[in-house]
Amino acid sequence: MSRPRKQEQESAREEVTEVADGVLRMELPIRMPGLGHVNCYALLDERGAAVVDPGLPGAATWKTLQQRLARAGLRVKDVHTVVVTHSHPDHFGGASRFAKESGARVIAHRSFRFGVAEATHEQPEVSVDDLAAQAQSGGQSDEPSARGPVSHAPREPWRQGRTPWGGEPPRPSFKMRMRWRMARWLGGLSFVPRISDPVAGGDVLRLAGRDWFVVHTPGHTEDHFCLHDPEEGLFLAGDHVLPTITPHISGLSLRADPLAAYFESLDRVAAIQPVEKVLPAHGHPFDDLGDRCRAIQKHHVERLERVKAIGRDLGLASVEAFSQRLFQQRSWGSMAESETFAHLEHLRVQGQAEARRESDGRLFYATG
Ligand SMILES: [Zn+2]
Repeated sequence: MSRPRKQEQESAREEVTEVADGVLRMELPIRMPGLGHVNCYALLDERGAAVVDPGLPGAATWKTLQQRLARAGLRVKDVHTVVVTHSHPDHFGGASRFAKESGARVIAHRSFRFGVAEATHEQPEVSVDDLAAQAQSGGQSDEPSARGPVSHAPREPWRQGRTPWGGEPPRPSFKMRMRWRMARWLGGLSFVPRISDPVAGGDVLRLAGRDWFVVHTPGHTEDHFCLHDPEEGLFLAGDHVLPTITPHISGLSLRADPLAAYFESLDRVAAIQPVEKVLPAHGHPFDDLGDRCRAIQKHHVERLERVKAIGRDLGLASVEAFSQRLFQQRSWGSMAESETFAHLEHLRVQGQAEARRESDGRLFYATG
């Protein structure tokens, strides 16, 4: 059984391409569920370059980065700025190394934070739907929310090493844990960068000789942001909007309703003008930003309708039970449950579902 390969799954190519005036696309290899490369963009100016999302931590990526920079006539020392769109390892991996080797400043959103424990280091980035034919993976974890009595209650068991819905927590693979531990030892520095220049929505950054506006886009992660260059009509999208897959929206978030935050961020981004070209963190540049935002919203609205239909059928049911009706068996597990939980919580906050904690710690939902 073969399915057409999504562009986000394509292997990293060696060639460096100029995708806009003073903006180079360098593809770095990653092997994550549903993803074959991450785009690191170099924004050139008279002082050298800023790089956006410099790949995974570790020696292999660092070597590739040096090769890609050399192809563009750049050295590590020329990199004066690193921009990290959000707190996932395939986006911030090279940041600490640039800070150390070239003294680069590191820019991320002021809410940048990565994980709470060793068990959070393997982050799925794309929706379970997009992973349907792929291997299982771990999930994203975060601290419990303390927003109001209702949202606080469902999240309680997370403190006892269980997910907010009472399931088994996601676990990274042994291989991934070892790889990151090695990167830290060998590099002699934390692979999570120190953010020298935290930014917030509305801030303006001078990159590639022109002004870029910071657009805070919580949803995929709380600290996700995009950059808009109105002069050239460019939009650096990170993982907020990808060309053919939908980013993973995890229920394990500090927010009571991460899906609502994502909807709101998509609305805001769809309205941004002028945008001639979108530069995503995975896949090829594309031009229809508003259409893509609306298509992703429609996908989630359809999923919410399916969750409600499942609820009418099942009655009061666990998150696991909902997820096993929402997803095919090959996708079952903590990641599918996390996405299902995000959708159920969205319905609950909207008044379209009720949650109840059973004595065994599991959370049950009934949809209207
Ligand atoms: Zn990513």
